[in-house]
Amino acid sequence: MINFEYIRTSTAKAAVDAKTKNKAAQFIAGGTNLVDLMKKGVTAPQRLIDINALPLKEITNDSRGVSIGALVPNSVAAENKLVMEKHPLLSMALNAGASAQLRNMATVGGNIMQRTRCPYFYDITMPCNKRQPQSGCGAMDGYNRMHAIFGASDKCIAVHPSDMCVALAALNATVIVNTTKGEKKIAFVDFHRLPGDTPELDNNLAAGELITAVHIPANHFNKSYYLKVRDRLSYAFALVSVAVALEVNDGVIKSASIAMGGVAHKAWRLTEVEKYLIGKGTTANVFKDAAEIGLKDAKTYQHNAYKVKLGKSAIVEALTKATS
Ligand code: SF4
Repeated sequence: MINFEYIRTSTAKAAVDAKTKNKAAQFIAGGTNLVDLMKKGVTAPQRLIDINALPLKEITNDSRGVSIGALVPNSVAAENKLVMEKHPLLSMALNAGASAQLRNMATVGGNIMQRTRCPYFYDITMPCNKRQPQSGCGAMDGYNRMHAIFGASDKCIAVHPSDMCVALAALNATVIVNTTKGEKKIAFVDFHRLPGDTPELDNNLAAGELITAVHIPANHFNKSYYLKVRDRLSYAFALVSVAVALEVNDGVIKSASIAMGGVAHKAWRLTEVEKYLIGKGTTANVFKDAAEIGLKDAKTYQHNAYKVKLGKSAIVEALTKATS
């Protein structure tokens, strides 16, 4: 049995102060990932700081965009009228994640902070540079069917498991963070890290910093779709996923934002595809070319080469669904 302290806080400042004082402490909200990690011995915080009483459960809207509090449950965000009207892509992605029960418990902040589902990370008898730096990577020469095809390193080939984050990356969201010095903002595309030589670091949050909200700026996208390809229809992580947001006028694409999930250590923006699509029509040939561009730099491992073909098909399908 692992002993740990448990405290509750009611303000963001108290939570940040408590975490800053004890680097081996961790915030807990829904606990849908952290409790699993503790049960399996992957992590053993000395102190849990319960943040559920913090006033971070609101969804608001103004001329600049929609803000979603970090403690809003995934199911509430997915079904919120503002989110469904303004950002249906986010609602689709949220509803594609996990199961109904987990979406009720999991929070928006926790979704961003969840850790990879690489099976070697969860098996403490196996080497894993993310869990234990310098111990090796079990997946590199192991069973790597679910692993990355973009942005990996020789230290780690894990993928980020979130669906919500793929939509937030495509929607140019910002993560609002509370620090000991006040509030700061991190562009969503810069929030998660690639593994490089430090795969133990999932993101760019400093010790003690707390996510308080995500902000999605107002946009002109009028076509969107989230496509998730998985082994079964519910409660499964993406093999690949695609979030498409387009502004289409008179059949011509004016602006495009596309991200993929299940392919990298973070939601993977397809910036070359986005550039290619501007000024093009919404035709099957354009979408096919976009898919070729999107996957041209993929690097595969022994068991995940199928992701290239699957990823191309998913891009074509997502673009077709968004525009049909
Ligand atoms: Fe660990 Fe990353 Fe290798 Fe998985 S891919 S075993 S998380 S180092």
